[in-house]
Amino acid sequence: MSATESAIASAEAHSAHNYHPLPVVVASADGAWMTDVEGRRYLDMLAGYSALNFGHGNRRLIDAAKAQLERVTLTSRAFHHDRFADFCTQLAELCGMEMVLPMNTGAEAVETAVKTARKWGYQVKGVPQNQAKIVVAANNFHGRTTTIISFSTDHEARADFGPYTPGFEIVPYGDLTALETAMSANTVAVLLEPIQGEAGVLVPPAGYLPGVRELTRERNVLFIADEIQSGLGRTGKTFACEHEGVMPDMYVLGKALGGGVVPVSAVVSSSEVLGIYRPGEHGSTFGGNPLACAVALEVIAMLRTGEFQQRATELGEHLHHELGLLTGGGAVEAVRGRGLWAGVDIVPSHGTGREISEKLMDRGVLVKDTHGSTIRIAPPLVISKEDLDWGLDQLRAVLGA
Ligand SMILES: *Cc1c(COP(=O)(O)O)cnc(C)c1O
Repeated sequence: MSATESAIASAEAHSAHNYHPLPVVVASADGAWMTDVEGRRYLDMLAGYSALNFGHGNRRLIDAAKAQLERVTLTSRAFHHDRFADFCTQLAELCGMEMVLPMNTGAEAVETAVKTARKWGYQVKGVPQNQAKIVVAANNFHGRTTTIISFSTDHEARADFGPYTPGFEIVPYGDLTALETAMSANTVAVLLEPIQGEAGVLVPPAGYLPGVRELTRERNVLFIADEIQSGLGRTGKTFACEHEGVMPDMYVLGKALGGGVVPVSAVVSSSEVLGIYRPGEHGSTFGGNPLACAVALEVIAMLRTGEFQQRATELGEHLHHELGLLTGGGAVEAVRGRGLWAGVDIVPSHGTGREISEKLMDRGVLVKDTHGSTIRIAPPLVISKEDLDWGLDQLRAVLGA
């Protein structure tokens, strides 16, 4: 057995099969490139679902983490630590908001957003106890907890995990009339991804996000934007909402906030909204820990320069131009996305998304399929144009284009 085969066999014997990874075993990585246990190199065109926007082993992030590792890594929130205030202040400022509630994973931050919206609904809006409703979109992906999968429309994510948490209403994504119809006096929030990532990088129709903003403002409902995947540079702006000139009431952030080093997530909002919490009402042992704050502070500093957003814009235009040439060529049905982020629908006769991903792997490019016939392209924002072009060459070769 090869080193790859034996590593995969052991993983399959001793880990739950809740993922179906491509058969590659990564041993090291640098920038946009990964190297497997047998020394083969691969161009990373997934970037950890945007957790690796700044690339593997980013020098600034690794240095910030190393320096913090030598000082203090964890205090719990029982005590203050000297990176916390800066992290919260600077993240709030980056978002144009006032307060931060730090957590670790994206799902925890979404849970925090749900709890915050409900509590705000009861304490500020005056919704009767236990009547709060949150409107979400079909085909959403917000994480994997029991409450979050309760408002998923993905059968695999839900089946056999009931009973489900009540209090959610699902409407078609991109449909303002359906959203308006679903809203009632007890609606406390609308929770949306400004671009639906897992659904296949679905960009809503122009005017949708401003429409949601207007409706929610009129009805005194919180607009919660889950920017865990779309945010922090991926689309060419710090937040995908900015493309439509929209400022939500709450950002939910994760993935790239931890720089691909540690899990860091947060809910960011106004002091009216996050000011509702009193000690003991919500928390996390690891949330806002010194190591997380040190890495995230470096992420925020990197985003403040605008250079990564600029790269995502420029390389994104190139990516979408090249992918656009493939549509109509017989192998690609449609391409969607924004910035350095694309969902590519493969014409089914050319193979499933999985088959295309495996063929790309054989040519040294790693991507991930979603929903049968779609592949997602989201390389680290630090990728060079030459490497991106090489990756696109491999895609064209696999598609026979
Ligand atoms: C990945 C993701 C989540 C969940 O984040 P985890 O860190 O995996 O819990 C939530 N929302 C969106 C939009 C995501 O892409």
